[in-house]
Amino acid sequence: MNSGMVYFVGAGPGDIDLITVKGKQVLQQADVVIFDRLINPFLLTDVKDDAKLIYCGKQPCKHTLRQEDIQKEILIHARKGKTVVRLKGGDPAVFGRVGEEAELLAENHIRYEIIPGITAGIAATMYAGVPITHRKHSNSFAVVTGHGSRKDGTPNVDWKSLSKGVETIVFYMGVKHLNTISEQLIKHGKGRDTQALVVHWGTYSKQRTVEGTLATITSKVEQANITNPAIIVVGDVVKLRSKLAWFDNRLLSGRAILIPSINERNREMVTTLKKDGADVFEHELLCERDHFDSGAVNDLLKMESDNELVFLSTKSVFAFLKGLVENGMDVRDIQLPFYSINESVKKTLQTIGIKSKLIDMSVISPVLVGDETEIESERATLSPLAKGIVVRKKNVSNKDIAAFTRLLEERHINTILLTSPAEALIFLKFLELSGIPLEQVQENVTIICKGIDTNLILKKSNIRGDMIIDNEDVAEAIGKIEEAELALES
Ligand code: SAH
Repeated sequence: MNSGMVYFVGAGPGDIDLITVKGKQVLQQADVVIFDRLINPFLLTDVKDDAKLIYCGKQPCKHTLRQEDIQKEILIHARKGKTVVRLKGGDPAVFGRVGEEAELLAENHIRYEIIPGITAGIAATMYAGVPITHRKHSNSFAVVTGHGSRKDGTPNVDWKSLSKGVETIVFYMGVKHLNTISEQLIKHGKGRDTQALVVHWGTYSKQRTVEGTLATITSKVEQANITNPAIIVVGDVVKLRSKLAWFDNRLLSGRAILIPSINERNREMVTTLKKDGADVFEHELLCERDHFDSGAVNDLLKMESDNELVFLSTKSVFAFLKGLVENGMDVRDIQLPFYSINESVKKTLQTIGIKSKLIDMSVISPVLVGDETEIESERATLSPLAKGIVVRKKNVSNKDIAAFTRLLEERHINTILLTSPAEALIFLKFLELSGIPLEQVQENVTIICKGIDTNLILKKSNIRGDMIIDNEDVAEAIGKIEEAELALES
């Protein structure tokens, strides 16, 4: 039998790093990923480029794929011999219907594995500073669905046993019926002043919590306008939050930053931002492939030595040389003087036996070697008329468009940090290719530019940079980001 393999994977509650190592490994091998609405979109940027992504997100009142269709999809791809990952929020077995889906595979003799995940009831609670058991306050916990099979959707549970027998109770999918839940618990024996907590989008940077008692929680949640996804925690352990809250108390809690490239020079800054509580998504929004235009290089070979060959990045040095070799050319045939945009590029050239000078005012008619954005940003800032040889091209992949559209639409990101003119160009190009309306971005997101040159690129496209940070000092930059947030709120 040439059947494929199906992995049911728990993606964890939201925080991108709360998926298991095993889960992440199989996700990277998947040919097909069938995923739910509550999956952190950023997780899906890590799959193979040609993986098929199927969204079966059930939004309230808007069913995208019905359960039978989801099961059909799994079967179809598994029968074609594919590796299928069925990615589920939290843990697949906690209100995740893994039982039904696995049963179908068992009946059809299709191999599967189930990889557990961290369930929201435990993780979101802990991120809110509440441990669900505690030697002094709670010896037991129960997870309960807050949405049941009754006609009005209220849960069909044994309220008496729950109220009398369990110390911490966590309700999933319960916000809509919070009033019924509180009333039933009080009616069956819990005190009106029993502590209750609601955690919305737990473990995401946009996590919000509302604290109260069984008597007050419904009106407080209504006031705060909290809807699903949220869990409700009932029990004495909730008191511990006042001492143990950690996630929302950090300097940059709630700040979710997208940097549209992965760059070694940002490493220290990103580490500090994360340590201070920001979510940082670093991602190459445009994927790269080498490109060699032999016509342009042939022209280069004919050029006079009053032109200068300027390398704009280490990656472009290697792409250029690789292209030369693959096309039977030799770097020694180039008569022009070699220049580097910075010390690091100069060093790279040196290690492969090529001497170069740092670019300076003596460079008059440069030929820029780089990717499209490097060349464009160099032209925009220093050499508007310079010739260019593109040695790497950037494309946008469908999976990235899908992921980032969701990141923006579901407001998982509230800040875009552009740390160089090249990143500003990548961002603009991505916006253009993805078709995400600019107004949508400007409305929901603060755009921070590092350096005036970076901001200039945005200005040319009539995009407002909300603030410019001008120095290399991370701590100061963080302070300014915070100021920007406060200014925005007031
Ligand atoms: N299998 C999932 C639960 C699926 S049911 C798990 O183990 O976590 C969906 C419900 O889970 C939501 O309605 C909400 O009540 C809860 N939930 C999921 N993710 C959540 C999050 N990040 N924060 C709060 N509640 C969440």
